[in-house]
Amino acid sequence: MSNNIQSVRGMNDCLPDVSDTWQGFEAIVRDWLRRYGYREIRTPILEHTGLFKRAIGEVTDIVEKEMYTFVDELNGESLTLRPEGTASSVRAVIQHNLLYDGGKRLWYTGPMFRHERPQKGRYRQFHQVGVEALGFVGPDVDAELIVMCADLWRELGIAPTLQLNTLGDHESRQRHRQKLIAYYASHQDVLDEDAKRRLHSNPLRILDSKNPAMQALNDAAPKLMDELEDEALAHFDGVQTLLRANGIAFEINPRLVRGLDYYNRTVFEWVTDQLGAQGTVCAGGRYDGLVEQLGGKPAPAAGFAMGIERLLALVEAGGRTIATPTPDAYIVHAGDAAQAFAWQVAGSLRSIGIAAVLHCGGGSFKSQMKKADASRARYAVIIGDDEAAAQQVTLKPLREAGEQTRVEVARAIQFIQEASTQKA
Ligand code: ATP
Ligand code: MG
Repeated sequence: MSNNIQSVRGMNDCLPDVSDTWQGFEAIVRDWLRRYGYREIRTPILEHTGLFKRAIGEVTDIVEKEMYTFVDELNGESLTLRPEGTASSVRAVIQHNLLYDGGKRLWYTGPMFRHERPQKGRYRQFHQVGVEALGFVGPDVDAELIVMCADLWRELGIAPTLQLNTLGDHESRQRHRQKLIAYYASHQDVLDEDAKRRLHSNPLRILDSKNPAMQALNDAAPKLMDELEDEALAHFDGVQTLLRANGIAFEINPRLVRGLDYYNRTVFEWVTDQLGAQGTVCAGGRYDGLVEQLGGKPAPAAGFAMGIERLLALVEAGGRTIATPTPDAYIVHAGDAAQAFAWQVAGSLRSIGIAAVLHCGGGSFKSQMKKADASRARYAVIIGDDEAAAQQVTLKPLREAGEQTRVEVARAIQFIQEASTQKA
């Protein structure tokens, strides 16, 4: 039927087979963050529009054209579905004075919303895991953020490459900005529409242009590296020394400026050539000015965000799979006494942590066994009225060779439990 309501373009359902993988990924991520001492922060998905304008910058792709912004008709407030997680995290940190007793290591995960042209690896609702280390001047924490990413990639069996750059501090950026404006202004004929518009408001963003016609011009543009102060250079050296000491390979990319305004000093991206045009799987850096810019007491900060869809696509491209949960037992039963007993057995199994699916809806043993097989359960627990009367079950391995055997129910439960702890 053509007039059925479909999901919104660029916003995807996550069906059980896929969400199994997501849960496996999330379990890995939670444990990884725990090991590094990061704690979760959960913020609302809607924020005041002004937060993103102030944090991300008025002249950025996100704020200019990608935000889902609407007026709350009940009170006239302009609200926006969050396009990223840093602004909200910093807002919450300031609002609740979280930095009163020193630095905090935080993480978040959830959906983000950007009105972009949907394509492979680019969606209008997508999901990120992000990390923010607030209150640390670095460069040690910058290196920690990068080293911990490398650790996660190892665990996921993927190998994106690291691109690194420094944006320096305010004064050097201002000097560089003036040089860029002069440079681009003297090449007006080559500038595209975006570049012309950004020439005076945000010339640094012209460097980030994806327009091939602008590449040559951008390659020859004045380099920020030539303007950096000693302190910023020392910071950058510090990051590189720690990365080398930890065996992390990187490539310095002077063109890496990041699409958001709030970054300074260290910026980095993890990129792959295995996902076509959408090759950045994780991006981040230092943003020392943001806490103050949003009204807090000045505090240094650094963080990153990774795109879950792109990461999982990369895991899949490498032919890897993330372990997903399957039931330990599928219980089939026929007959009234058998049904009552089957409910009891299912309850006993679940009470000791075993995943047990109880067949519902009746049917022959044969059709129930097909369902058991399709459930990917490790064992079928077969119960007829005979078994029920004897307080026994028939146990049939579904994933490995082996005969079915009829045993006391306590013995069967113990057997399934042992098998499930071996698996874990
Ligand atoms: P891109 O240059 O690909 O547009 P970005 O610089 O806008 O990325 P960030 O704001 O740094 O992206 O977000 C961090 C990560 O989130 C990206 O590296 C990417 O993996 C993921 N991401 C960003 N936008 C999308 C999207 N529309 N769909 C899917 N993933 C996305
Ligand atoms: Mg983008």
